[in-house]
Amino acid sequence: MVFESLAEKLQGAFKNLKGKGKLTEKDVKDAMREVKLALLEADVNFKVVKDFIKSVTDRAVGEEVLQSLTPAQQVIKIVNEELTALMGTTQSKLKYASQPPTIIMMAGLQGAGKTTTCGKLGQLLKKDGKKPLLVACDVYRPAAIKQLQVVGEKLDIPVFEMGDQVSPVEIAKKALEHAAYYTYDVVIVDTAGRLHIDEKLMQELIDVKAAIDPTEILLVLDAMTGQDAVNVAEHFNEQLEVNGVILTKLDGDTRGGAALSVKAVTGKPIKYACVGEKLTDIEAFYPDRMASRILG
Ligand code: GDP
Repeated sequence: MVFESLAEKLQGAFKNLKGKGKLTEKDVKDAMREVKLALLEADVNFKVVKDFIKSVTDRAVGEEVLQSLTPAQQVIKIVNEELTALMGTTQSKLKYASQPPTIIMMAGLQGAGKTTTCGKLGQLLKKDGKKPLLVACDVYRPAAIKQLQVVGEKLDIPVFEMGDQVSPVEIAKKALEHAAYYTYDVVIVDTAGRLHIDEKLMQELIDVKAAIDPTEILLVLDAMTGQDAVNVAEHFNEQLEVNGVILTKLDGDTRGGAALSVKAVTGKPIKYACVGEKLTDIEAFYPDRMASRILG
């Protein structure tokens, strides 16, 4: 499970605190040193760790905490609250357009899980009573269109495609006409990714965005890629102004740093977490639940 090793280390740090009864400022600082190392090992961004430790320490060495009857519990509670705040405090819901259709544009690097996630999101929304349409705008990756069609068939969600000889901007525009005609209320646009960020990819995404004015741009990030995922997020956000992030592959033995850094670094919330290859392996992201999971 993601965060397994982080959770273990944090629990170790807290065990020492709990064993002490009354706490001194030094006890708290020693524990925070362990927490800091654990977070860095989990691949959380250095600056994020530094700010986090400062916030927790400032609150935890106060008289009220140290003089309380259960100081260790108070410190753990503060860590929990600050971890939750780090990941965005409250669940960030998907925004719907006031007039349908809601247009969701998916972006991300190749292999991040974009195409799979389009299906997962469609499945969630369909379960929620929506009528989604998937749109195949990845005209470069061999078999990307076919992959989306297979996903659509499995979920019984229609896929709009125009082959790979038409520009993504054109396909996206036509898809919106199609959606209006057949009254789809959510349009999920799968876009092309590259192995690395490049200007041509970015320009194409900017053009698609301008053509369809999406309700939400969701960036699909592979949590296994750690700090790289956060760098990718920063870059995409600068160029495209994304609305939120979907983290994939949180089921792997990833160190989880991306989940803990991405909101702090980009200011954009994690909206969903994907936890497996199956099309049902997606869940809304709750910062408080994730923090509790990490703290055990
Ligand atoms: P794209 O290139 O961004 O469209 O990526 P794909 O949707 O083709 O996914 C790339 C690979 O990652 C596929 O083998 C997916 O099954 C896998 N994948 C996607 N999401 C997850 C996830 O949450 N967990 C795991 N374990 N694998 C995933």
